[in-house]
Amino acid sequence: MDKVRVRFAPSPTGPLHIGGVRTALYNYLFAKQNGGEMILRIEDTDSQRFVPGAEDYINEALAWLGIGIDEGVREGGPYGPYKQSERRDIYREHVKMLMDAGKVYMAFDTPAELEEKRKSVPNFQYDASTRMSMRNSLSLPTDEVQRLLDSGAQYVVRFKIEPGRDVEVNDHIRGKVVIKSDILDDKVLYKSADDLPTYHLANIVDDHLMKISHVIRGEEWLPSAPLHVLLYEAFGWADTMPAFVHLPLLLKPDGKGKLSKRDGDRLGFPVFPLEWHDPKSGDISSGYRESGYLPAAVVNFLALLGWNPGDDTEVMSMDELISKFSLSHCSKAGAKFAFEKGKWFNHVYLQQTPTEDLVALFKNVMTKNGVSPEDFSDEYIAKAIDMVKGRANFVSDIWDQAKFFFVAPTEYSAKDIRKRWSEDTPRLMGELTAVLASLTDFSSQAAEPVVLGWITDNGYHMGNVMNAFRLAVVGECKGPHMFDITELIGRDETISRIAKAVEAIKLPEA
Ligand code: GLU
Repeated sequence: MDKVRVRFAPSPTGPLHIGGVRTALYNYLFAKQNGGEMILRIEDTDSQRFVPGAEDYINEALAWLGIGIDEGVREGGPYGPYKQSERRDIYREHVKMLMDAGKVYMAFDTPAELEEKRKSVPNFQYDASTRMSMRNSLSLPTDEVQRLLDSGAQYVVRFKIEPGRDVEVNDHIRGKVVIKSDILDDKVLYKSADDLPTYHLANIVDDHLMKISHVIRGEEWLPSAPLHVLLYEAFGWADTMPAFVHLPLLLKPDGKGKLSKRDGDRLGFPVFPLEWHDPKSGDISSGYRESGYLPAAVVNFLALLGWNPGDDTEVMSMDELISKFSLSHCSKAGAKFAFEKGKWFNHVYLQQTPTEDLVALFKNVMTKNGVSPEDFSDEYIAKAIDMVKGRANFVSDIWDQAKFFFVAPTEYSAKDIRKRWSEDTPRLMGELTAVLASLTDFSSQAAEPVVLGWITDNGYHMGNVMNAFRLAVVGECKGPHMFDITELIGRDETISRIAKAVEAIKLPEA
């Protein structure tokens, strides 16, 4: 096989969808596995649909996920420019090549004329059966064509599809797909009005000139593939045509049909890698990054949507994915977007993240919750995180589990009061305070036997006393080991919280 060169070729028409991210990832994994190159090409020939900020968004999303680009607009490379709007000369020249070879023709039909045809002819298609009844360089006399061009009439260049051909597309995932050329229309390849090619022409010319070996893209592009095969032939490039790989669709988590943004809104998960601020409407769409996902978790989750390693392995780093990835283990069937699994991956990766990294991320969460991180040492924050992270899927969950390490409770769970607080509790808490005050060593290890000894020696109820203690310190009867908590918050804070609770907790009138 020649050198592997793949491309991710998004159109900057909005935020990159999570399905597009998966396409980019599979291209990257395949390239790296084969010592090949990953090209990022910006397909911006549709000026009508161009959205400012979309290109930066694509770059930022890929960088966040660790999907490296070897050649692209920012990276440069020997086959540039990598942005299609900067390649007009190249496309113009290639349109001329097809024109000289008689593979295309100029069509002068106005939008109104085309509309009229569509209305009067049922299932109208611009093809071999109709083209001679239209206004184009095949049907009009040569001098008329010249007159139109001289008068500055706008035209499009259409591909002259020959009927009666079986067009074969060999897809690495789908196998051989054969269609009859009769069903294809004479696609527009170029528009004089904006001097730009359409997607089909630009895509094929660039894949050829950039020496792309494999076209790995979403299944929604499969219907374009027969046309692309014919274009390679028309240019005389059939021998160097890249291999086609059409990836299965991403499906709704709860049923059939393509995953859409609405599914995300309905079920509460992002469909974009990063938060997106729509420049026109001002709408904000949530992103995986801002929702607290770790990039490695997103990568791992996406890698398994449409591919499997051939065994049960689920947790794989980028390097492991690169070494295990294979096109033969990509599925034909659509992949359900199991977003709950995405949370599970985040949980797994959160546990593997070094605590010092979590501390840095957690400080943002603290600030958001009105606590200034400078009031606590990194060591203190790290210890609190380590005690609770086993129950967290996201860094923000850590706050829910650990906030009492940073702010004393101001409210106490009514349910737990009913269950664990009685008239006698303030007296017991007073005794407990004395025991805590008398300890020479306040560490978990030293404090625990003394406090538990005091409870048993006095015949007190272990569960009630310990839970009242917890209620006073935490605000509810939940959390990590009690004496680990008190060791970290320290003696003064523990005793002051007990006093505060005794003061604040009023028993309901009997
Ligand atoms: N510009 C197309 C897109 O937005 C590229 C499709 C392809 O990879 O050929 O996805």
